[in-house]
Amino acid sequence: MRLIEIFYSIQGEGPAMGRSATFVRLAGCNLRCQGCDTDNRTIQELSVEEVMKGILCRMVVITGGEPTLQMEQMSELISLLHSQGNEIHIETNGTNPIPEETLKKIRYAVVSPKRGSNFHLDFWAGKKNVHLKFILGKAPWCWTSELLQDIIPALEKERTWIMAYGTDQNMPQARAAWDLALSLGINYSDRLHIRLLRR
Ligand code: SF4
Repeated sequence: MRLIEIFYSIQGEGPAMGRSATFVRLAGCNLRCQGCDTDNRTIQELSVEEVMKGILCRMVVITGGEPTLQMEQMSELISLLHSQGNEIHIETNGTNPIPEETLKKIRYAVVSPKRGSNFHLDFWAGKKNVHLKFILGKAPWCWTSELLQDIIPALEKERTWIMAYGTDQNMPQARAAWDLALSLGINYSDRLHIRLLRR
């Protein structure tokens, strides 16, 4: 697998916010979001078995980059983790639907659709283990309040989140995301790793 890093940390975003996990960050993405905070400078090639040796705890978050670009190996990793009783989460931009056989082994698939991309909203919205996380911000790939007010009423509230874009520790856009989440009756996600670790 093409991989950037395996590390142990606290999940800072989305439905598992505040829980400790092993993160497997896969390399490569099919989108080019301006201001993307994924650091692709150190890429290594590891077998699925080698990745398994780096798993330090029960909860595992497979992230990127865009992990579904390596769908076959990612599905193999998920099967192995599942057979060993791990709780598996995945973070994706939603442009590649995950096969049902793999998706059902995942506790949470957190899909963060980027504006202007082909993110298959109908496919994801129908899956009970999928949470949709929209990023509010000024970048061209982020969402505006107006666009979200059109999209969100059709979605299941408990599985829909708004998070503010930004890598500034003070999170200046967080209050706007909070207010919008409250007005739409959906969830607000913070970015705890940015607030606490600045990364
Ligand atoms: S989808 Fe995510 S990883 Fe890919 S370029 Fe955009 S922000 Fe970066």
